[in-house]
Amino acid sequence: MNYPVIIAGGGPVGLLLAFDLGRAGVPAVVLEERVEHHANEHVGTFHSRLVDVFTERGLLDKLGEQPKWPALHFGMVWLDLTKLESEYNLLVSQTAIERMLQAQAAEAGADVRRGHTVTGYSQDDSGVTVQVRCADGDYELRGAYLVGCDGRDSLVRELAGIGVSRRGKSWYGILGDFASYDGEFEAGVRAGGVFGALPEGTGRWRLQTVEFDIQAPPESVPPTSEELMRNIKRVTGEDKKVGEPLWIRRYAGTTQLAERYREGRVFIAGEAAHHYVPTASHGLNTGLGDAVNLAWKLAAAVKGWAPEGLLDSYHAERHVAGFRACQAAQAQMALIHPLEKVEALREVVADLVKIDEVNYRLATWSTDIEYPVRAEGDLPIVGHRVPHVPLKTDCGDSGTGEALAGGRGVVFDLSRGAQLGDLSGWQDRVDVVRAQPAEELDAPALLVRPDGWVVWAGDDAQGLAAALTTWFGDPSTN
Ligand SMILES: Cc1cc2nc3c(=O)[nH]c(=O)nc-3n(C[C@H](O)[C@H](O)[C@H](O)COP(=O)(O)OP(=O)(O)OC[C@H]3O[C@@H](n4cnc5c(N)ncnc54)[C@H](O)[C@@H]3O)c2cc1C
Repeated sequence: MNYPVIIAGGGPVGLLLAFDLGRAGVPAVVLEERVEHHANEHVGTFHSRLVDVFTERGLLDKLGEQPKWPALHFGMVWLDLTKLESEYNLLVSQTAIERMLQAQAAEAGADVRRGHTVTGYSQDDSGVTVQVRCADGDYELRGAYLVGCDGRDSLVRELAGIGVSRRGKSWYGILGDFASYDGEFEAGVRAGGVFGALPEGTGRWRLQTVEFDIQAPPESVPPTSEELMRNIKRVTGEDKKVGEPLWIRRYAGTTQLAERYREGRVFIAGEAAHHYVPTASHGLNTGLGDAVNLAWKLAAAVKGWAPEGLLDSYHAERHVAGFRACQAAQAQMALIHPLEKVEALREVVADLVKIDEVNYRLATWSTDIEYPVRAEGDLPIVGHRVPHVPLKTDCGDSGTGEALAGGRGVVFDLSRGAQLGDLSGWQDRVDVVRAQPAEELDAPALLVRPDGWVVWAGDDAQGLAAALTTWFGDPSTN
């Protein structure tokens, strides 16, 4: 076995997966066909839940200072995030995310190989053999598991025989930074689609069009300023002049969802599993959610303590999340196009979002794609991600986020004296944090998975032991 886990694709999802596996003590190899990172890539919108995920891992600090952006749209109808302290976005360059994750994954023990393309694989009962091509020639790697984080046209998915369902409108976007532009700032919906023109300082402009149900040129044709000018004319009806592109990219697609996320020892995550219109700002957030859900389960399987069904829970949980993100993205497209048919609907929705509850529901629906997790207990916190709250622990001031920093399960004992039983059999997998009761958590004790989900709350030893066995396997006896 060369590596316990082989990851095809070194985009943000593959790299975060490798980082999480590394901090769980499982080295992975990441095979990425691109030699270089994209130059000046688009920004990704980091939603508040993802900020929690990165904070727990110490990754947010590594990205440097990122101003909060208290704005979010739903189908280009603007929501008011200033009313919601817990919901906000960060705007982070995707290239910056990839570079940071690559460095951190390598530091955590991953072997990141750029310029290495996965060309095929086969699996058997004991592992996966992967064929790789690089400048020095072809070679093979053997691993226990293969994860396809290889994007929308995933070869790993295709060779696993996993089909995709495609539905709804197609989109065609073009985006880039340009040396000059003879127009004004704007960002919104026009008759032909979405148009954005943002001054970037020093005379540069970031320009973008998104159109729907229009055939994009083939990928073999490089995007140009002329193509963007034609698109601006179609979207706005106006003739605009743009200068030379400093960088430019075209993107096109249709909403797609893989029919399953696992085939034996092969898994898929990120855009390999689901693909939505970028305007909806779900792709990165949902993909990174896949990575953190899968990493600790794979690590448990590699280390030999994964209880039955743990690996299957990845599909059970994340396929629902992918489906809901598809729905949310499609609903957003339905609010945008064709404008002459949806204008009245947009006005109604714009009026409705002035109601705080509607604003809140749409914002949290966008920033936090919830999915059901098998969980025990009647308390409201069960089956949700544990919020970041400060705690007064036996070892001093800390918080729930800090407790999850180790990437292990955590029992929070806030009961001051409940008999939770002997937990020593799980101490190699689960930490116990004793703290004073915390109003926000509203439970005597909680069991939280390494990915932050509360899977049990209560005060009975039997219930806790059962939940620990469900998620962390049998207790060890030594
Ligand atoms: C213009 C634009 C704006 C966006 N804005 C947002 C946003 O605001 N918020 C948001 O959440 N999402 C956004 N997205 C979506 C987000 O960029 C993607 O969801 C994200 O990149 C998916 O990450 P990934 O790692 O799954 O896939 P990718 O980033 O596509 O990475 C896949 C990697 O696999 C590699 N690869 C492919 N095949 C092979 C192979 N055979 N062998 C080895 N390597 C291979 C590729 O080179 C690539 O690096 C946007 C997308 C675009 C295009």
